[in-house]
Amino acid sequence: MYDAIVIGGGPAGLQAALTLGRMHRSVLLLDSGQYRNAPAAAMHNFLSHDGTPPADLRAAVRAELAGYDTVEVREIAATRVLGSAGAFTVALIDGSLEEAASILLATGVRDRLPAVPGLDELFGDVVAHCPFCHGHEFAGGRVVIQDGPHALALAGMMAPVAAEVVIPDSDVVGLRAGGAGVLVELADGTEIDAAGFFVQAAFEQSAPFAEQLGLTLLESGCVRVDGFGRTSVDGVYAAGDLAHTPEHPMPMASVLTAAAAGLVAAASIVRDRVLATL
Ligand SMILES: Cc1cc2nc3c(=O)[nH]c(=O)nc-3n(C[C@H](O)[C@H](O)[C@H](O)COP(=O)(O)OP(=O)(O)OC[C@H]3O[C@@H](n4cnc5c(N)ncnc54)[C@H](O)[C@@H]3O)c2cc1C
Repeated sequence: MYDAIVIGGGPAGLQAALTLGRMHRSVLLLDSGQYRNAPAAAMHNFLSHDGTPPADLRAAVRAELAGYDTVEVREIAATRVLGSAGAFTVALIDGSLEEAASILLATGVRDRLPAVPGLDELFGDVVAHCPFCHGHEFAGGRVVIQDGPHALALAGMMAPVAAEVVIPDSDVVGLRAGGAGVLVELADGTEIDAAGFFVQAAFEQSAPFAEQLGLTLLESGCVRVDGFGRTSVDGVYAAGDLAHTPEHPMPMASVLTAAAAGLVAAASIVRDRVLATL
C-alpha cells in the first residue's frame, strides 16, 4: 500500500510527487501522457521558465523525481478509484490494482474547441484562449477575438498589448496560417489578416474519477477543494486545472498555479495523515 497515489503527471501531479518524495512518503504517480498544453511549443508566464517547451519542464521534473527512492512513476492510465480514506484502490488500464491511503487527483481538464476548420491545427500557436499564456506573442499586431461571453473583457486585457483588437460581428468560419500570423475567414465573406486569434473555448474534466468518487463539483464543472486541496471526500485531494476553491469562478489555469496547488495538496496529505494518528 502506497501512502498516496497521484493520478496525473502534469505540473500539479509532478510537484505533488516531488513534495511527497521529499517527505519520504511512498507515492505512485500515474501518467497517461495527455497534457493540456501539449499543443503549445513554448510555455510562458512562469518565472525562470518563460519560453521553455512544456515537455522540457516535465522531463526536468521526472529527472528530479528519480532522485527520490519512495517515488515511483508509471506511464499508464488509471480507470477507476474506489474505497475510502486509508484504503483506496486504483484500477489501471492493464487490469492491475494498486492501493493507497490517500488519493491526489491531478488529471486536469480537456479543452472543448468550437468546430471551426483550421482551428485545431493552429491552437496553441497563433490561436490562443488565454491572454496570460499567449498574448505578448501578438504584441504590436492585430488581434481578432471570437465573439462570446468573455470577448469584451478579453479585448480590454489585450488593448495595451495589441495594435488593434477586433471582435467581428460575423461568425468565424475558417482559420489558416498566413499573413501576419493567421487569416480569419468570416461568414460574410471577408477575411482578416491578424497576428493572433482568441477562441472562446469551454472545458470538461479529463477523467471520470470525480464522478466515480461522488466529489462535490462547482458551477464551472471543476472539483470543489478547500485552501488545502481537500475535496468533499476524506482522503481524496485534488490539484491543478481540475479543481478550485469556491471563491474563484474557475481555475486560474497555469503551470505555476497548478504546481503550487500540487505542493499544497501534497503537504496536506502529509499533515492530515500525521494528525489522524495523534
Ligand atoms: C494551448 C495551451 C497553452 C498553454 N500555455 C500555457 C502557458 O504558456 N503558461 C501557463 O502557465 N499555462 C499554460 N497553459 C495552461 C496549462 O497547460 C495548465 O494550466 C496546466 O497544464 C495544468 O496542469 P495540470 O497538472 O492540472 O494538468 P495537465 O497538465 O493537463 O496534466 C494532466 C495529467 O493528468 C493525466 N491524466 C488524465 N487522465 C488520466 C488517467 N485516467 N490516468 C492517468 N493519468 C491521467 C494526463 O496524462 C496528464 O499527465 C496552456 C494551456 C493550453 C491549452
